[in-house]
Amino acid sequence: MNECIFCKIVQGEIPSKKIYEDDKVIAFHDINPEAPVHVLIIPKQHIESANELNEENSYLVAHIFMVIKKLAKEHGIDKEGYRIVNNCGEYGGQTVPHLHFHLFGGKSFGWPPL
Ligand code: AMP
Ligand code: ZN
Repeated sequence: MNECIFCKIVQGEIPSKKIYEDDKVIAFHDINPEAPVHVLIIPKQHIESANELNEENSYLVAHIFMVIKKLAKEHGIDKEGYRIVNNCGEYGGQTVPHLHFHLFGGKSFGWPPL
């Protein structure tokens, strides 16, 4: 049985504030937002992290970035800019082991993000 919480969100077994869905991905509001706009974009397919990407599944990342661009426009943050984050693995700060990209916007972000 798949215990992955993001797979459960994809299946509708856990509620989420879903804002986008197609055959490949879904996007929903982060439960603990760190910025005025904080959306997670995930593949429906369970891929553990960016470290599990390969020639067969990496097309999903290009698609996710196209969805991010569309969502940024819809949220009115495309002109001022935004941040896309992927945390990979333990030292990368990944807490949910299902590939996801954070879309942060609505404020100015510092650098470096340490
Ligand atoms: P990361 O640290 O990159 O793995 O990010 C995981 C993100 O998932 C965090 O920002 C959490 O707030 C978010 N999160 C965890 N559970 C849920 C959930 N059930 N619905 C929405 N966001 C969630
Ligand atoms: Zn999963």
